[in-house]
Amino acid sequence: MFPGGVEMQNEVIIDDTTLRDGEQTAGVVFSRPEKIAIARMLDSIGVQEIECGIPVMGRQECAGIKALVDLGLNARLMTWNRALVPEIEASIACGVQAVDISLAVSDQMIVHKLRKDRDAVKEQLKTALGFAKSRNLYVSVGGEDSSRADMAFLVELMEITRSLGGDRFRFCDTLGIMDPFAMYERIAFLRQAVPEVEIEVHTHNDLGMATANAIAGIKAGAKFVNTTINGLGERAGNAALEEVVMGLKHACGIETGIDTHRFREMSLFVAKASHRPLSVSKPVVGERVFAHESGLHADGVIKDPHNYEGFDPAEVGLARSIIVGKHSGTSGLVERYRSMGILIMKNQAESLLETARVLSCKRKRDLSNRELMGIYLDSPMLPKAA
Ligand SMILES: [Zn+2]
Repeated sequence: MFPGGVEMQNEVIIDDTTLRDGEQTAGVVFSRPEKIAIARMLDSIGVQEIECGIPVMGRQECAGIKALVDLGLNARLMTWNRALVPEIEASIACGVQAVDISLAVSDQMIVHKLRKDRDAVKEQLKTALGFAKSRNLYVSVGGEDSSRADMAFLVELMEITRSLGGDRFRFCDTLGIMDPFAMYERIAFLRQAVPEVEIEVHTHNDLGMATANAIAGIKAGAKFVNTTINGLGERAGNAALEEVVMGLKHACGIETGIDTHRFREMSLFVAKASHRPLSVSKPVVGERVFAHESGLHADGVIKDPHNYEGFDPAEVGLARSIIVGKHSGTSGLVERYRSMGILIMKNQAESLLETARVLSCKRKRDLSNRELMGIYLDSPMLPKAA
């Protein structure tokens, strides 16, 4: 149990790995101040665990991890390690009290990557986990490529984890090849097979299902979930923190206790620090996911935002906007001019709308306030009072 935590049904613990799997993205490097800022933001919104680096990478990485340890955050800091004693020792030297110890668990990787067999993997787990527990570490046993592993072998590994006091098993869809239905079935099966060992789901977005798979795992009984801000991560990325939290809340009615109001700010920070610009239509935090243009939608939102918004944009630090373009209707146009301090009548809006649509088609985009002002001032039939 976490300090101050309350046991509740469907309790979900977020283990955010922006600083480990996120930084592992090809071409992404965070500076130390950026790492500290990200860790502080995650901590401030109530993320319970932060996977913060890979000590075996060397002195500079270790110094970065120690700097995070020194912050004295509420969040538990965890490091990533292969299941090897020297790597775990490197983590201990950094001052963390929790480790992920990772082993490849699919025959594909055991045979073709490690050139070993299943027995060797079991022995390696016993040695590494035994060592980590002898040093009083909190241990997540990471099953790399779990989605391609033999389920009976995963049960064997979880039994070893249980017998040696391991704290949880990380089911990794390393290649992002699962679908939510298969994820649900497998996590439910493993929960039943070895109920003493909690499960963590680690999902990737290669087929666009990272968030769905993470949520399916949680619904099947996984208590822990890996996320990254913006879904940053290897190849197509990981499950996005903001999507998992908002998806659990609004699609499943599961509260994580995370304060969502800084999501937009955090996304922008990580987008900049990672040199991975945020798509304007990125679910939950994209600049334009609460922008309404088409006549019916804009009119519906103006009458009542619930008509076309699944949740309030303010919940994630965004604001609603009414866009004027090719598909606009008069009520959207009236509302947009109103926001600029200009009151026009609905019938007056008709002729302005015609001009606005022509200009939008010509420029292949929506119109700025300046352009709308120009249209207004050029219109001979309108009174010029603001
Ligand atoms: Zn990963």
